[in-house]
Amino acid sequence: MAVRIIRKKDDPVLRQRCSLVKEITPKIIDILEDMAETMYHNDGVGLAANQVGVPKQLVVIDLMDQGLIELINPKMVQAEGQEVEAEGCLSFPGIVGEVERAKKVTVEALNREGKKIKITGSGLFARALQHELDHLEGKVFIDKVTRFLEPSE
Ligand code: ZN
Repeated sequence: MAVRIIRKKDDPVLRQRCSLVKEITPKIIDILEDMAETMYHNDGVGLAANQVGVPKQLVVIDLMDQGLIELINPKMVQAEGQEVEAEGCLSFPGIVGEVERAKKVTVEALNREGKKIKITGSGLFARALQHELDHLEGKVFIDKVTRFLEPSE
């Protein structure tokens, strides 16, 4: 495992739509493991593969209470409610802004064994899922910010 360099700000890979993972090879597992290590190293709660320069549909999330979640080819299948909360991104250090997100979402994906999984999250977990799935479509949170905040606010 290795900590990879996080792509930042205007790096074009952040605007790239990530491709579906066709086969879960050892290389894909390596990328997932590096993504987790990179996320922990930077005190993040989520990371999408294009943030480390790999435009594939891979996401890792760890909000502490849940433990590490790896998602391959995730797709949102349900979204409910809306709420506005502050969020940030490892690709935009020092920037915090309010973003409207669904309150509760359900995502389908594959796990590293290639088994279909379905996860439902609300609050911060739902927010992290939506933020990371946006990355896979080449979307970044700063475009959705309705109000920028001081990082300490
Ligand atoms: Zn992000």
